Amino acid sequence: MSRLYNSRKRILVTGGAGFLGSHLIDRLLALGHEVICVDNLFTGTKRNIEHLNAQPLFEFMRHDVTFPLYVEVDEIYNLACPASPIHYQHDPVQTTKTSVHGAINMLGLAKRLKCQILQASTSEVYGDPTIHPQTEDYWGNVNPIGPRSCYDEGKRCAETLFFDYHRQHGVQIKIARIFNTYGPRMHPSDGRVVSNFIVQALKGEAITLYGDGYQTRSFCYVDDLIDGLLRLMDSPPALTGPVNLGNPNEFTMRELARLVLSETGSSSPLVTQPLPQDDPKQRRPDITIAQARLGWAPKISLSEGLKPTIDYFQSSIGRSRDCLDAN
Ligand code: NAD
Ligand code: UDP
Ligand code: UDP
Repeated sequence: MSRLYNSRKRILVTGGAGFLGSHLIDRLLALGHEVICVDNLFTGTKRNIEHLNAQPLFEFMRHDVTFPLYVEVDEIYNLACPASPIHYQHDPVQTTKTSVHGAINMLGLAKRLKCQILQASTSEVYGDPTIHPQTEDYWGNVNPIGPRSCYDEGKRCAETLFFDYHRQHGVQIKIARIFNTYGPRMHPSDGRVVSNFIVQALKGEAITLYGDGYQTRSFCYVDDLIDGLLRLMDSPPALTGPVNLGNPNEFTMRELARLVLSETGSSSPLVTQPLPQDDPKQRRPDITIAQARLGWAPKISLSEGLKPTIDYFQSSIGRSRDCLDAN
């Protein structure tokens, strides 16, 4: 769709009331674009976007992407999908539907509008990886029938759909494979490791290490990640991706726990709990493609990014539980 009178774009962000989506919308509005946020508020909350209510260029639509959507936009960022294991395993059938039916509907929309669409894919497509660090040409090691499969296989099928709409219908696609990202507006009880450890440290509760705590992850601060998504969307059409976006600095969960304790000044003890099934042992992105093709690399270290994240959780847990859980 081409707009007649100015270069401002109207941009659809699905999952826009979630953690990453709300930060993306902040950046798109700051760049002068108009944004339609579509979200069914399953894991997202109106609180993440309430500061935008007075913005004339912002519009919220409560809608489930597994149903068709008819809007007129110039670009689509498809982020709708629960992202934490607790949330995506709560209703696994709906999780797969969100990835697969949601992708079909958003690709159908992009096809009708002849507009570019970016998919928020995930490092989970690599499963429990047998090569390290993970490069985009690695096909992955995913259990198709385990408790994480609804998310991992749903996201893999969404990537397949993106490439088939691209090859069959000429839809302009971008696929970002996002590695673990953290920052303000993560849900305090979504069970992800950064939010769990910070909330536990601030409350003086035991820090729960799953397994022996020597499994690794690489954590990217949200501002860096959003910068990568914007650069990928603005890259030449030939760059479809997939492109890994994440911070290549790798930490064991024990190292993360120690860092959170020192940054919060907490003396919470560490306790071990059973490792969840199919929990990947190690994960680190190879970001050579993002560096070379997008001129992108994360700038914010884990200790720098933890500070505003801790401040956010500090003020969140100061509010009442009812208030936190309300949509
Ligand atoms: P989030 O749970 O905070 O946000 C997801 C949003 O999608 C929520 O607002 C939720 O209400 C909405 N949603 C879920 N199902 C929907 C549906 N059927 N229709 C409409 N809206 C729906 O998670 P996030 O961390 O912001 O993740 C955003 C995207 O990025 C997800 O697609 C996720 O898979 C991907 N991703 C995130 C990470 C990460 O570390 N945060 C890593 C890899 C990939
Ligand atoms: N779709 C949508 N919005 C649109 C166009 C299509 O939600 O503006 C949905 C539509 O419901 C369809 C899906 O996208 O089921 C896939 O569209 P496509 O054109 O590929 O398939 P078809 O309509 O031919 O089945
Ligand atoms: N983890 C942990 N304690 C927690 C929550 C998670 O040790 O309280 C571990 C989890 O087993 C995994 C890692 O931290 O090895 C990252 O978990 P998260 O759910 O944040 O992300 P994902 O496993 O999807 O990468």
